[in-house]
Amino acid sequence: MRGMRFDVLTLFPEAFQSFLTTSIIGRAVAAGHIEVVLHDIRDYSTDKHRKVDDVPYGGGAGMVILCQPLFAAIEAVKALADDHAPVIYLTPQGLALTQQRCEEYVEQRQLQRMILLCGHYEGIDERVREALVDEELRIGDYVLSGGELPAQVLMDSLARLVPGVLGNDASAKEESFSLALGRAQEYPHYTRPAEYQGMRVPEVLLSGHHAEITAWRLAHVRQGRD
Ligand code: SAM
Repeated sequence: MRGMRFDVLTLFPEAFQSFLTTSIIGRAVAAGHIEVVLHDIRDYSTDKHRKVDDVPYGGGAGMVILCQPLFAAIEAVKALADDHAPVIYLTPQGLALTQQRCEEYVEQRQLQRMILLCGHYEGIDERVREALVDEELRIGDYVLSGGELPAQVLMDSLARLVPGVLGNDASAKEESFSLALGRAQEYPHYTRPAEYQGMRVPEVLLSGHHAEITAWRLAHVRQGRD
């Protein structure tokens, strides 16, 4: 696999700056393992004031992002590359983002490009969903103000599975393997010093006995809970 390209459609491209330049993702971008191209939905508005939203038909709170700039943006971005790229809308009504789903995208489907659509306000005009969105994902059962954080969560979790992104590819394998039961499982980690404020690292971890260390770790596995 030759890395992954993400085309992100957003009203707030500036929200991605520190994400794209920091730590593992920053290095993955610099090394070309992932490419993230930001597209400002407002640039596709034909309105003279670059308007992108309007009140909902039928009344109700909030604003809805208009069909016009979204159709124009998605169609233009799709045409930028030959690769098949599903349009993924981040929405609280989407399928849950899980480690298994991430592995499916990267390892089974071997997707090399994705178009991510970030909503805002009350969301997007339903006709965009019907005509142009291929898949919908949610990052959790809560409502955020926009799709920018969900898009970053999705890209981060996928990037970790792209070969070369993690220094030690075994770390990603170990993590995803540990999720086989559907919940993240992990043993406790310690580093130097062996004693801190009277709290000692378990002796077995200092012993160098690999079999005993493995047994200790298995006996101390914790997993996420509701
Ligand atoms: N009226 C919408 C509803 O009740 O589902 C909420 C819209 S929310 C304020 C604005 C945008 O944030 C959504 O269009 C979506 O792109 C994004 N969003 C919010 N929570 C999300 C979540 N848990 N997962 C993915 N995207 C989310």
